[in-house]
Amino acid sequence: MSATILVVEDEPAIQELISYNLELAGHQTLRAENAEEALEMVHAALPDLVVLDWMLPGMSGIEFARRLRADKRTQTVPVIMLTARADERDKLAGLETGADDYLTKPFSPRELNARVKAVLRRRAPQATDDLVEVSGLTLDPASHRVLGNGTPLALGPTEFRLLHFLMTHAERVYSRTQLLDHVWGDHVFVEERTVDVHIRRLRKALKPTGHHHLVQTVRSAGYRFSVSV
Ligand code: CA
Repeated sequence: MSATILVVEDEPAIQELISYNLELAGHQTLRAENAEEALEMVHAALPDLVVLDWMLPGMSGIEFARRLRADKRTQTVPVIMLTARADERDKLAGLETGADDYLTKPFSPRELNARVKAVLRRRAPQATDDLVEVSGLTLDPASHRVLGNGTPLALGPTEFRLLHFLMTHAERVYSRTQLLDHVWGDHVFVEERTVDVHIRRLRKALKPTGHHHLVQTVRSAGYRFSVSV
């Protein structure tokens, strides 16, 4: 399982420990020392998940989470909140702000990894290694293979990620900007027509088994993965 995880923590030793353990578990990490820096990073590229310290200098973790939830672009990014206080009211406040889970310091790396895994599974299935199957089309992130009715299909790395995202978010329409955010992790530096290029390649790769029809164009809106016409 490999997700891009933004760690927002002002204490260098804790930030290092958390990041190191997430990397050991196979993830990529981005690090910020405060919420202001984290907002800039999120603006440049959407992470799959944020591990967020509650007590930060300047803008608090709660306020940062609130801002993520208030912006349409970032509102679905999963957040795990960290706090030094085991106060039940804090926990409620954190969850009300939209945190998906909550960990009290000190916690073990194993506990953090388990929570990360559970939240990703629930909120960002494209960042997990779970096998996905739709209508005879199977995608296996662990072996990086795609089978159409049992026949191996050859996909490039970008087409693979694109298909993984679309299959785990079936029946919903995504604009080119949203796909850039979720698949490329970037909506600023890549042109929108890049998406069209890779959609075309993806359809071509799925054609041998007729699964290209699942990747649908929704006029003036974007693309959708759907089993119905
Ligand atoms: Ca802190």
